[in-house]
Amino acid sequence: MDRLVIKVGSAVLTDENEIAKERMLNLVTLIAKLRFKYEVVLVTSGAVAAGYSALKIDKTKRIGRKAIAAAGQPILMTSYKKKFDIYDIDTAQILLTEDDFDSRKRTKSFQEIMDAHLSHDILPIINENDITSTPEQLFGDNDQLSANVAHAVNAELLVILSDIDGYYDKNPKDNKDAKLYKVINELTQEELNETSTANNPFATGGIVTKLKSADFMIKHNRKMFLTNGFDLSAAESFLLDGKHVFGTLFEPKIAKEK
Ligand code: ADP
Repeated sequence: MDRLVIKVGSAVLTDENEIAKERMLNLVTLIAKLRFKYEVVLVTSGAVAAGYSALKIDKTKRIGRKAIAAAGQPILMTSYKKKFDIYDIDTAQILLTEDDFDSRKRTKSFQEIMDAHLSHDILPIINENDITSTPEQLFGDNDQLSANVAHAVNAELLVILSDIDGYYDKNPKDNKDAKLYKVINELTQEELNETSTANNPFATGGIVTKLKSADFMIKHNRKMFLTNGFDLSAAESFLLDGKHVFGTLFEPKIAKEK
């Protein structure tokens, strides 16, 4: 079975400081269908937003954010568990930092844990461990974490679900005439150096971190599909029927030998 990493951002998972339960359920339903075809790993944001409903302290300060994330992680996982239980899917929680990909030894241990879960039909749910780690140990966003996860688990494809249909020639939130790119084979230094433009107060990424992940995937001869997490129809058609309706596919031009 091919492996697939799905990353869902806070824009999709949260709504006004709460978990967007209906959208989460739609995602869980899609993952349940995908598991007939793929071995799936989920990378999820949303702990800070989930925690803020319980702990209303200043989330712009480093310690405040960590304290909220620590309170939010079990809330987020409980919410997932309730939904995955509907489909009888067992899950595992994995919290990682950039350090976990620093050495071969640590990456190998991560790969072995993933293999153990996937071969026993467990769905790993990964998030960044920003609770005890220093800023230097963090990716700072789950986009780049998910690309590293995809590479480490040898996934062909990383799917990033966000609040937009894909990658546009300019920010679609400010430009009505923005044009969606369907396929991208290469990213320029200019695109990768743009300042980040996250919308949601809980989001840390913006489009640039997604492009950096796409660049990482292309350079490692893998693919990334950026699509809408509010309306999952494009993700579903692409992943289950092989139809590319909308969404941006980032892929290397010529498949290189791995
Ligand atoms: P998430 O929480 O899903 O990671 P972010 O809010 O961090 O999402 O990033 C997605 C946002 O990036 C979009 O909503 C969009 O406003 C913004 N953005 C800026 N430039 C572009 C672009 N060229 N194409 C697509 N989105 C863009």
